[in-house]
Amino acid sequence: MASTEAPPSIPFVDLAAQYRRIKADVDRRIHAVLDHGRFILGPEVDELERALADRADCRHAIACASGTDALLMALMAEGVGAGDAVFLPAFTFTATAEVVLMAGATPVFVDVDPRTFNVDPGHLAHMADETARAGRLRPRMVIAVDLFGQPADYPALDGIARTHGMTVLADAAQSFGGALGNRPVGSLAPVTATSFYPAKPLGAYGDGGAVFCDDDATAAVLRSIRAHGQGEDRYDIVRLGINGRLDTLQAAVLLAKLEVFDDELATRERLARRYDDALAGLVEIPARVPDSRSAWAQYSILLDGRDRVAAGLKAAGVPTAIYYPLPMHLQPAYRRHGRGEGSLPVAEALCGRILSLPMHAYLDAATADRIVAELGRAVRG
Ligand SMILES: *Cc1c(COP(=O)(O)O)cnc(C)c1O
Repeated sequence: MASTEAPPSIPFVDLAAQYRRIKADVDRRIHAVLDHGRFILGPEVDELERALADRADCRHAIACASGTDALLMALMAEGVGAGDAVFLPAFTFTATAEVVLMAGATPVFVDVDPRTFNVDPGHLAHMADETARAGRLRPRMVIAVDLFGQPADYPALDGIARTHGMTVLADAAQSFGGALGNRPVGSLAPVTATSFYPAKPLGAYGDGGAVFCDDDATAAVLRSIRAHGQGEDRYDIVRLGINGRLDTLQAAVLLAKLEVFDDELATRERLARRYDDALAGLVEIPARVPDSRSAWAQYSILLDGRDRVAAGLKAAGVPTAIYYPLPMHLQPAYRRHGRGEGSLPVAEALCGRILSLPMHAYLDAATADRIVAELGRAVRG
């Protein structure tokens, strides 16, 4: 007789399965830190920074306490502040907007491309021209977000930034491991910030992040900002800084996870293809950008009746997530910097139709097929 029990529910991200695979290495590395006791900026942090810079094909990686700190440190190193306009997509996580205000600058929200979900270069050019003409703020920086793991259109953004004398900062919190052509994320912009929040493609067992750059002077300033703005001597404070260090224990965990990262990225790509093949025609599947590689932080579909479908999936034991329910220009905390409802129509429409499915390297084919089947039922039902 068939069991009447509900099928087991599926985890949205399965960190336990990953731990089972890398347990011996993680445990060994954590115990090494417990033994040497250098919990702050210990040798594992140096080792991690070298490994990250190597992967990212750039000269410097500066490990830090979170992706948010990585962004803030990058803004501080660039000297962004009062009177500066920082352009960013409205369809992003709140940290991208928050750091602009923390730095004392003014966020200018830009609409996104309806297919890639990344900042729309045409709308960016329009907003930058308009800001320059108005003359109240100085166009200073573009923060490009590689949403869901897909790198933004850096060649196009670079051209617009040059026209206005702006720099580009990559918010690669979701895209570490991705690439455009043969250029890995970390080398696509002069400065790149990423996050090692546990659910990101490369995640720690707590908070963490890193900043990437090629320029030696910028790297030195970033290291100083990470340590309260210290100069040659620890009690010689030469600039405003923060406590932005990465724990040695998290560096040890990340070193173990880097060993399997390429394999995990390949598995995510295979899962994305499986979803693509099964879901094309049923819902709008993620756009494929030619000659690029997504890190597949999320596999996000677009559909009408999103909330009804998400509720149906939940009842069937299939978790989903909505990234993001509200664009930044409509968030209560940032509203006064935007132009209200209707001003960024693409971002606003996406917030009502986006839905992210379980996506991680430990999701097997049978589970993927079950998710697809339940999604079909929920969409048709
Ligand atoms: C996660 C995330 C951040 C912030 O990273 P934390 O490590 O959580 O501080 C910033 N930007 C984007 C787009 C993110 O997804």
